[in-house]
Amino acid sequence: MRFEDLRLVEPLLRAVRTAGYRTPTPIQSSAIPHVLAGRDVLGCAQTGTGKTAAFALPILQRLSDRASRGTTPGARIRTLVLAPTRELAQQIYESFRTYGQYTGVRQAVVFGGVNQNPQVRAVRAGVDVLVATPGRLLDLMGQGVVKLAGVEVLVLDEADRMLDMGFLPDLRRILAQVPRRRQTLLFSATMPAAIRELAGDILCQPVPVQVARLSSPAPSVAHWVHYVERADKPALLARLLAHTPHTRALVFTRTKHGADKVTRHLMQAGVHAAALHGNKSQGARTRALADFRSAHTPVLVATDIAARGLDIDDISHVINYDLTTEPETYVHRIGRTGRMGAPGTAVSFCTAEERGDLRAIEALLRTPLQRAADVPGQRDARARPPRPAAPPQARVENAAQPGRAPRGALVSNGGRLLRRGRARGPRKTLRARASAGSRPKRW
Ligand code: AMP
Repeated sequence: MRFEDLRLVEPLLRAVRTAGYRTPTPIQSSAIPHVLAGRDVLGCAQTGTGKTAAFALPILQRLSDRASRGTTPGARIRTLVLAPTRELAQQIYESFRTYGQYTGVRQAVVFGGVNQNPQVRAVRAGVDVLVATPGRLLDLMGQGVVKLAGVEVLVLDEADRMLDMGFLPDLRRILAQVPRRRQTLLFSATMPAAIRELAGDILCQPVPVQVARLSSPAPSVAHWVHYVERADKPALLARLLAHTPHTRALVFTRTKHGADKVTRHLMQAGVHAAALHGNKSQGARTRALADFRSAHTPVLVATDIAARGLDIDDISHVINYDLTTEPETYVHRIGRTGRMGAPGTAVSFCTAEERGDLRAIEALLRTPLQRAADVPGQRDARARPPRPAAPPQARVENAAQPGRAPRGALVSNGGRLLRRGRARGPRKTLRARASAGSRPKRW
């Protein structure tokens, strides 16, 4: 299918050409016709699937149609997009700007943690599309700056994350101010009961749109695990980053304090890194992300604030410094790499206390993670016979090419994780490898 087949107007086709898109992604092909037809949509899609354009393009088409039929651009907020985090809101706003650059549609973004005055000025200047996080939106509604009586389309993005973050009461207050006669689009990476209930309340005969199996990782990501003692994690991380070619590496810690500590340790070890978490000022968060995007800071150490929705090109490695206790968060975290079919590597550090978390992740993925070899100097490596110097670079380069992960590496195919180059199932394979005395790989 081509974008032309979706009956998008020329200013939008021009914008997707300018963005370098050749063909619509599956969620775009399935959702755009329904959104254009004015239907409510319940979209279940992982981040990185192109879902922002799946709702932004048809919304822009609707708004620019009306604009050409006499509505003054920016006369009232006609589309409200709600997102759980400031970073995601900013990203959606930028997508609307990119896709709407030839349409005359006006947009603004509002989120907390920064001075509200520029946002108030932007809203007062007139906007058709407002992208917002719930808290700041409610503040501005309370001050009479934002009025939602003219909203025709409401989008809830990353709805499951919004509920996880406790935004349901805020959402209800906002929904009470949005006209009942409207088009509503709800996107969520997962569909737990609470989301289905919310969808039942706010959507009207929605078209379900789903791409990829729920909770399946991107197909092009290779997964590895390092068994490590807690005290050895900092040194292991520093060595891995020093020994492994990477474009950008995103490191996840369980706590904000942990993110700061790991960042300090990396800096002391000569690895340029920055931390991103909710205790940082918005300025520091924006700076950390901008530096990471530009690869000025190639390593970002973050809490799960960065686990979802962030779209940063070319993250070659996601490292779970601390395993997550929620297996689905593992899928979200590693969703930061391997985006749009690009290759990626996910590495997890697992202590004895984290074995249970690992088992839960493996159960969700329905396969064990591939054990990575110890990097030079790792404590328990001393117990093993010395091995010839391995060419880690070659292996990583292989892992970094779609379909060319190392033999035995865990790669995903059509939503199922498989071991490359092996005919038998993964558990058997691991047992066979163990009995054959084969050594685990290093990534
Ligand atoms: P999203 O899932 O909306 O965060 O999009 C993920 C990434 O895919 C973004 O960098 C988009 O610019 C990119 N993207 C969206 N649609 C397409 C497409 N049809 N072709 C190529 N890239 C796309």
